[in-house]
Amino acid sequence: MGSDGFRAVLERFPRLAAESVSLEEALGRSLAVALASPEDLPAFPRSSMDGYAVRAADLFGTTETNPSYLELAGVLDITTVPGEPLAAGTCVEVVTGSTLPPMADAVVMVEHTQNLGGGTIEIRKAAAPGDNMMQAGEDARAGNEVLPVGTLLRPAHIGLLAALGVREVCVGRRPVAAILSTGDELVPASTTSLAPGQIRDANGPALAALCEQFGARPLSMGIVEDDVDSIARALADALARADVVFLSGGSSVGVRDLTVEALSRLPDTELLVHGLAISPGKPTILARSRGKAVWGLPGQVASAQVVMFVFGCPFLRRLAGDAAAFTQPRPSVQAVMARNVASRQGREDFVRVRLAQGATLPEAWPVLGKSGLLKTLVQAQGLVAIPAWREGLEAGATVQVMLL
Ligand code: AMP
Ligand code: MG
Repeated sequence: MGSDGFRAVLERFPRLAAESVSLEEALGRSLAVALASPEDLPAFPRSSMDGYAVRAADLFGTTETNPSYLELAGVLDITTVPGEPLAAGTCVEVVTGSTLPPMADAVVMVEHTQNLGGGTIEIRKAAAPGDNMMQAGEDARAGNEVLPVGTLLRPAHIGLLAALGVREVCVGRRPVAAILSTGDELVPASTTSLAPGQIRDANGPALAALCEQFGARPLSMGIVEDDVDSIARALADALARADVVFLSGGSSVGVRDLTVEALSRLPDTELLVHGLAISPGKPTILARSRGKAVWGLPGQVASAQVVMFVFGCPFLRRLAGDAAAFTQPRPSVQAVMARNVASRQGREDFVRVRLAQGATLPEAWPVLGKSGLLKTLVQAQGLVAIPAWREGLEAGATVQVMLL
C-alpha cells in the first residue's frame, strides 16, 4: 500500500471524545467545538499609534507642503475614557492603545504632526478612515466563529482566547499511546552492562518521545519476548489501557511474522495494512482491534522513527481532534538537493537530509546510512519525500524538507 492509501485508512479511525480544559492546559490541543466570540474584540475603537485622533475628512488634501491645523480638544492617556464625541476641526492626543472618542475615525502618527502651542496642532499628512486604529470587533466580532472546530491551539490562539475572556475550552482528549518493543535481544535502556548479544531498547524511548512531542501521553510498556503468545497478551493488555498501540520489532515479512500472528489471536481484530510501499518503513503493519489502531512498526531504529514521524505522529494529532493533521503541510523548508539521490520506482523514499547554508536556498545533503543506525536520524534535520513514480532526484533540484 502507498502512503496516500495508508493515510486514507488512518483517517477512518474516529477521534477521541472531548473534554474541557483550562486555558493553561490548552496548548497543543485541538478544539472539539467551534469557538464563537463571546464579545467584540477590541470592545471599543483603539489607537494603534502615538499621535492624534482625527476625523479623516478634516485632513482631505493635507500634505507636507499643505498642512492642516486642528484644534487640540484634549489628551487621552491609556486609561482615559473619552466622554465627548470629537468635534469637526479638532483632534485629541492619544497613545498606542487609547480609547478613541466617538466620531474619530483615524489616527495621525505623531511623526507627521507638530504641536504649535496655544492649542493648535499642525498635521502634515492626510488620513483615510481606519488608519492607525483598530475598530471595535476588528479582531473578533461577538457571535461570529473565531476558531473552527479542529483548530490546533498554538500560543497565538491562547493569546486570543485570553483576550476574549475564555477560561475553558472544549478540546479532544490527549490519546494514551502504549509503546511496546519486541525482541529477545532487547534489554531495558536502564541496563548498565550488556551481556553479549544484547542491545538496549532504543525504539521504546524514541517512540515515546515522539508521542510526547505530538501531544499524546506515552504509556511505556517495556519489552516483550519474541513469542506469539507473549506478544498477543501484551497487545491485549495495551489495548485495555491505551487508545492506540505502537509495537516495534517482529514486523518483517520474514521467516516469522510474529506481530501479524499475535494480532490474529486477538478477538475483534482486523489486519488493515501489511507492508507499505515506502522506504524506510516497508514492514509496517496496521490493525484495528476493538476499534483501536494497533501499529506494528519496523524494528530497525531509523525505520521505526521515520514511520512514526511521517504517519504515526499526525495520526495521534488526528485522534486528538486536529482536523488538518493529514492535510496541512508539515513544517518544512525549501532547499536545493546537494547531490543526486537514486530511488527505486514504485516506492516512496524518505531521504534523511542534513541542511547546510547555500547560496540562495539551504542545501540538503543526503545522510546515507543503514536504517539500523541511529546516527543517520541524529545527523539529519529533515526528510525529503521522493514520490513513488520518480527514479530519484538530481543535484540542484528544489525540494521541500520536512523538518524533524
Ligand atoms: P525486527 O523487526 O524485530 O526483525 O528487528 C529488526 C532490527 O531492529 C533488529 O536488528 C533488531 O535488533 C532491531 N531492533 C528491534 N527492536 C529494537 C528496539 N526496540 N531498539 C533497538 N533496536 C531494535
Ligand atoms: Mg526482532
